[in-house]
Amino acid sequence: MLRLSLAGNNLNRTLINLVAQFPSRLPLLMRILVVEDEPRLLRNLAKALREEGYAVDTAEAGDDGLFKAGSCDYDAIVLDVMLPRLDGWEVLDRLRKKKRTPVLMLTARDAPKDRVRGLDTGADDYLIKPFDLDELLARLRALIRRSAGQVHPRLELGDVIIDTRARSVARDGQPVILSAREYAILEYLGLHRGKVVTRTELYEHLFDESDDTLSNLVDVHVFSIRKKLGRELIGTRRGQGYCIE
Ligand code: CA
Repeated sequence: MLRLSLAGNNLNRTLINLVAQFPSRLPLLMRILVVEDEPRLLRNLAKALREEGYAVDTAEAGDDGLFKAGSCDYDAIVLDVMLPRLDGWEVLDRLRKKKRTPVLMLTARDAPKDRVRGLDTGADDYLIKPFDLDELLARLRALIRRSAGQVHPRLELGDVIIDTRARSVARDGQPVILSAREYAILEYLGLHRGKVVTRTELYEHLFDESDDTLSNLVDVHVFSIRKKLGRELIGTRRGQGYCIE
């Protein structure tokens, strides 16, 4: 474990070196669970989602999926219907007794009764296999925005404007370049405007289960965002976390 006991410029330099030492492997944005038993489809889906910048966890059976869905607060879950051990409907039904995580069902069957069942059970959206990957990505983005109570892809935070579709940020009308992780943190705080977001919550949303990077990097990224967009944009709640008012 690294300990920081430096002050002033030395600390800044150390933080910058730390970021350089632990670069973002991928532009991670939000954390998604994919439950799918067809290995090739699962692999392709996870790969495509990671390329889009999501942190992705996977499960190949219903019971594993349910366990993961219950133990982590995902931004969305992609859930296949036909799964070993516990089918997708059963997973959804049990999950809904505990959590409102947005769920996108993947169904191979186009039967109307399946669709009705999906909506009755609490699915937020569904796609019929085979589906277009771009459509899945678009629907996931919409699900995540809806669940955060934010239908519009443009977030205005005082003089800072975030375009969630283009993933770009401007301040006073001038574009500001953020790293992928800085952007992810800013967007997450922006989508949860007015709420205090803990470091743990940020960490869980930005890093997937295969990632063991130091959690204190969240602080490093926030430090860097403030340098680019102004000290006052992101407030610190002592002992609690961060908040954009
Ligand atoms: Ca299946």
